[in-house]
Amino acid sequence: MPSESYYKYFQPNRIQYLLLGDTLICERCSEQNYYSEKCDFCARMVCLACEKAAKRVNKTRRWVICKDCWGDLKIRSKWKSI
Ligand SMILES: [Zn+2]
Ligand SMILES: [Zn+2]
Repeated sequence: MPSESYYKYFQPNRIQYLLLGDTLICERCSEQNYYSEKCDFCARMVCLACEKAAKRVNKTRRWVICKDCWGDLKIRSKWKSI
């Protein structure tokens, strides 16, 4: 089931709410933030502070890894092989 921040981000009727100063809650540190991105390994919406790295594989695909997944050696070797 998608998280609440997922709905805030993608429901069209919520967009204005967001623009009026609503914040997203990071699913890793629970801080409020205005920007969050989905970690491609644990699928949580994480804030910039929790995002460890991001890389662009081609023009359209951007991969994001959070600090928790970065600490997992199996996931990190996956990340290196992307
Ligand atoms: Zn965070
Ligand atoms: Zn993650």
